[in-house]
Amino acid sequence: MARLVGLVKPLTGYMILAILMGLVGHLCAAFITIFGGFAVLNLLGLSDVLSLQMIFIAVAIFAFVRGFLRYAEQACNHFIAFKLLALLRDKIFSALRRLTPAKLEGKDKGNLISIITSDIELLEVFYAHTISPICIAALFTVVMVVFIGSYHWILGLVALLAYAVVGIVIPLVTSKMSGSNGLRFRGKSGALASFVLDSLRGLPEILQYGQGENRVERMNQMTDDLAEDEARMKRVTGYNMAVTNTAILVFNIAMLVLSAHLCGFAGTVIPTIALMSSFGPVVALAALGATLQNTFAAGNRVLDILEETPVVEEITGKAPITFSGARAKNINFSYPNGEQILSDFSVEIPQNQVIGIVGKSGSGKSTLLKLFMRFWQVQDGSIEISDKNVDEINTSNLRDMQSFVTQETHLFQDSIRSNLKIAKLDATDEEIMEACKKASVHDFIMQLPNGYDTPVGELGDTLSGGERQRLGLARAFLHDAPFMLLDEPTSNLDSLNEAVILKSLHKERTGKTVVLVSHRKSTMGIVDVSYSVEHGRMS
Ligand code: ATP
Ligand code: MG
Repeated sequence: MARLVGLVKPLTGYMILAILMGLVGHLCAAFITIFGGFAVLNLLGLSDVLSLQMIFIAVAIFAFVRGFLRYAEQACNHFIAFKLLALLRDKIFSALRRLTPAKLEGKDKGNLISIITSDIELLEVFYAHTISPICIAALFTVVMVVFIGSYHWILGLVALLAYAVVGIVIPLVTSKMSGSNGLRFRGKSGALASFVLDSLRGLPEILQYGQGENRVERMNQMTDDLAEDEARMKRVTGYNMAVTNTAILVFNIAMLVLSAHLCGFAGTVIPTIALMSSFGPVVALAALGATLQNTFAAGNRVLDILEETPVVEEITGKAPITFSGARAKNINFSYPNGEQILSDFSVEIPQNQVIGIVGKSGSGKSTLLKLFMRFWQVQDGSIEISDKNVDEINTSNLRDMQSFVTQETHLFQDSIRSNLKIAKLDATDEEIMEACKKASVHDFIMQLPNGYDTPVGELGDTLSGGERQRLGLARAFLHDAPFMLLDEPTSNLDSLNEAVILKSLHKERTGKTVVLVSHRKSTMGIVDVSYSVEHGRMS
């Protein structure tokens, strides 16, 4: 809770304003009824503290002020809440950027989506309907206890007890009763989101192996489970309301009896009416008990992402360098979960050479390229570019020097042109076309209905594997960096397309340094030196 409140700091002024307006507003509401009490006493001739005329004017003013303040308080709270949500979203996305790619590689994407959408959304409840109500209730209680206590100190004590039971004891007990329901519920709904996303991605496999029924059944089971948890949470809310209303009734009766006993008839009306009409702010807290666990669960999940430390930090503020060769020097590398992938591994990549890397599947070829990209951190040794450790090179500088074509080209749900332009935002149409010709994909694009403006379906699944691969290469050609890291760039291509690409690579060689991972003999034909990765070592 402290961590969540900490975020409000920049908006403290608005928060104080919201609390003051809420306090005065609630006092107005309570005193409208109390003035009614004075009016009754006045008519019965038991009190002439206030004339009837004054009472009516005061009620009219209080009613108007109450309406206005209610609106202003809510506007203020929601301003704070939505401002903070925007701020939190911004923070979350920066955090995700810092964590990418290493920390996100193994993360459950559906759960992540549920955190950045519904969990953040839920925090609105905390910022708009939790912090200021707590402060308002505390201040309001002080004023009312003093007012009621001015009739008799015992009555003040009863009022204090009543507010404490409804506003503190009941919410705490409710929150204890709901226990970890909230956290479990958030976790389960994240798991369901993941399962649905996973099923959509794996539709071909599900159809092929007849897993449809099975998946639907599991999805139903998860939904039922979720519904059960929700029912349990709602039940707790129900008990909470019943107990709250009963407690209010009991305290009202106690106040009536006690004040009649202590103050006589004239002294009974006002304290009893005051107590009856003043439970609003504490009742707002009573209801919080049930939702608070859920909100904190969401808050925890959001804050956990914000506080997770990345594998590699973004580097800025170093002097820019230009590319003049790269090397891996006696590196040891293992992923957080497992065995040594590369041990005492060294490779020299002189400028303007094409270096081939071969090796069994799973031997660590792609991993090596990722280390040159500084996606991960080596445990020992160093990865160097232009004789400088990659940890000493500005990240944006590094990215500008490198073109990385991964084994699986990801295409975004956008036009082909936009998909290519991510490699160079200000690329001209000519440059794009040139790059596509080098990647042997220009002719294919031209025969599409809208050419370069043809939209690509989600995950690029409206394109063939080879077409996607060639678009990936076109991006690399467009990026035009001096250091090219190509991971199996021709694995999905026929020999004709492969030949065009190899020719392009050969022509591009001047001023380019290429690391080429491939299983294909024909592709390896163009390399100057080839290395083989075996058991984490080079030969
Ligand atoms: P292929 O020829 O099949 O592409 P590769 O040589 O490129 O294989 P890598 O992708 O480098 O192999 O993987 C090397 C080993 O590291 C594999 O055993 C793989 O399971 C493991 N690995 C890869 N990525 C991760 C990761 N993010 N976390 C844990 N282990 C990983
Ligand atoms: Mg690989």
